[in-house]
Amino acid sequence: MKLSELYGLFVDTLNKSGFAEAESDSRLIFEYIAGIDRVKLTLEGDRELEPGVEEKLKAALDMRLTHMPVQYITGYQNFMGLEFMVSKDVLIPRMDTETLVEEVLRLGLSNVRVLDICTGSGCILLSILKYVYGSSGVGVDISDGALGVAKANSEALGIDATFIKSDMFENIPKDERFDIVVSNPPYIRSDVIGTLMSEVKDYEPLLALDGSEDGLKFYRIIADRAPEYLNIGGVLFLEIGYDQGAEVSALLYAAGFMDVEVIKDLSGLDRVVSGRIGLI
Ligand code: GLN
Repeated sequence: MKLSELYGLFVDTLNKSGFAEAESDSRLIFEYIAGIDRVKLTLEGDRELEPGVEEKLKAALDMRLTHMPVQYITGYQNFMGLEFMVSKDVLIPRMDTETLVEEVLRLGLSNVRVLDICTGSGCILLSILKYVYGSSGVGVDISDGALGVAKANSEALGIDATFIKSDMFENIPKDERFDIVVSNPPYIRSDVIGTLMSEVKDYEPLLALDGSEDGLKFYRIIADRAPEYLNIGGVLFLEIGYDQGAEVSALLYAAGFMDVEVIKDLSGLDRVVSGRIGLI
């Protein structure tokens, strides 16, 4: 089959099956599975595809039709301009989470130490380390699978970081101090998980989504323990759900944080809460 015909077939099939992003899904599959990017699609549309390549692409389309997220099919997601490998062991990095990283970058820091709780693919920690001069850091996660992905990303991107298996703060050395603590913990209320789209609830790791009955379990632990690991003047940044700004802010104030702020994402929804450890 000709390249343009096969591409058309992909877009049509996905459209007919109700996929909202039929074109972008098809593009990503062609690009990552067969190395055929937007330019090649236009310039080489009349080219006949080798049967092996056509088969691989069709297998990818079949996976997408089961609602497997396109990133688990291609194995990659771009985040902060960097390509992160993903597997079913990690949450797919979200554009909303870039808001958190950008807030850290806005501080204009250099030479800081960063701790990432629930690091997953490592996308938050590694992008901060990439863009903050002289920074170093530690990422922790309870999942061996996630730590494997985070380490692979650190190596592939050439960004040095330490990864530790730890249930929240449990295995972080007691004498370690950080200037920045970041986390995008699981924050979805348990009763909401069943209502999420198939891509999320059937494919992304439940461990990375479920924030317990009220969605706040991990924020409580972080508010309680992060001060022990923060230098004076150090700042905590948490990603939150759109309706958790008030509750998470209250948790931070109660734990002794100052200057607590709720920051919106590009859609205008509350997305990040930050707080500082001060002298008074
Ligand atoms: N820190 C990772 C991310 O933002 C994983 C978050 C999670 O597993 N809840 O993508």
